[in-house]
Amino acid sequence: MIYLDNAATTKPADEVIEAMLPYFREQYGNPSAIYSLGSAAKKAVNQAKRTFAEVLGAKPEEIYFTAGGTESDNWALKATAESYSAKGKHIITTKIEHHAILHTCEYLEKRGFEITYLNVDQYGLVDLEELEAAIRPDTILISVMFANNEIGTIEPIAEIGAIAKKHGVLFHTDAVQAFGQLPIRVDELHIDMLSASGHKLNGPKGIGLLYIRSGLKLRSLIHGGAQERNRRAGTENVPGIVGFQAAIQRAVARMEEKTKKELELRDYLIGRIEKEIPYCRLNGHRTRRLPGNVNFSFSFIEGESVLIMLDMKGICASSGSACTSGALDPSHVLLATGLKHEEAHGSLRLTLCEENTKEEADTVVEELKAIVTKLRSMSPLYEDFLKKQHKA
Ligand code: PLP
Repeated sequence: MIYLDNAATTKPADEVIEAMLPYFREQYGNPSAIYSLGSAAKKAVNQAKRTFAEVLGAKPEEIYFTAGGTESDNWALKATAESYSAKGKHIITTKIEHHAILHTCEYLEKRGFEITYLNVDQYGLVDLEELEAAIRPDTILISVMFANNEIGTIEPIAEIGAIAKKHGVLFHTDAVQAFGQLPIRVDELHIDMLSASGHKLNGPKGIGLLYIRSGLKLRSLIHGGAQERNRRAGTENVPGIVGFQAAIQRAVARMEEKTKKELELRDYLIGRIEKEIPYCRLNGHRTRRLPGNVNFSFSFIEGESVLIMLDMKGICASSGSACTSGALDPSHVLLATGLKHEEAHGSLRLTLCEENTKEEADTVVEELKAIVTKLRSMSPLYEDFLKKQHKA
């Protein structure tokens, strides 16, 4: 098997699993209990908060563990909306956010909030002037993702943070795809809230965090016990938290080497595909993109068919985000970058990890060439195109 769907999820690292096991077997205490089994678990949770705080340049009490990126995004948006509605009911986001943000925005719209969805350019980049012009006296929040999960485009987060700060508007970023891949310091970037998720960086699934700058008056997410400073009740997922900590420590330690390896392989794959497969288009920005992201549109064919045929060869890839693949709608991200419906339908995302090799990349290109040729030979769109070319 060749696994090229690391933006959907990653393989848990051995160190992560090793770190978690004692918290299933021996250290199973409830962190709220006062006996030593409980306090050992509490210590582990507090240590993890210190680790994440250090990575982000934040304070441990600003880290709140959640059940993943979706939950963190929901919390940031809904709680800001509710807690700051006296100031205003306007929120700014982008057209290319993950559905965890977009569907939460739709929910808020039904409850009287007004949302501005910023356009992006052909590379998926937000226009800073458009952003600043969208700010109004009743704007309470700007939420822009750090890096896009489909096309890998890295947004100008520092500039967006500076604009938000200048206008006294809160700034949330969905950093699920960037956390552990790129260095992130919340103060330098003027980030007030940040969502991250464990399973995108070789950590466990079902664990994430929301960084909330101290001083923000966000309402609680889940009501119940006093866990997470009364803001997110429920017994902590101690093994998940410990595993997530091991994952970020590993990611930070290897970031430079991993980035270099993935960048090289990414650009090698992009280069070969562009050279050897006609009528294709690289989606996203050529350089301002996540080191492991490759996304192409192939004219005249369906991305879903490419995926099925790649799967038959043991290659795991995606034609959009994991949450939308299987749906018939073309990717909202690709449409926002200006692609036509049929072009967006013919897209393929390959997302790398440091374990992928040049040999694997070569195999994928060879298989892809054969698949695209085969699908085009059966495509009426391609036949029409060839006829028109022949006439001209
Ligand atoms: N935000 C982005 C940008 C993502 O890529 C994802 C997952 O694909 C999520 C949010 C949701 O994260 P989780 O799977 O941890 O709920």
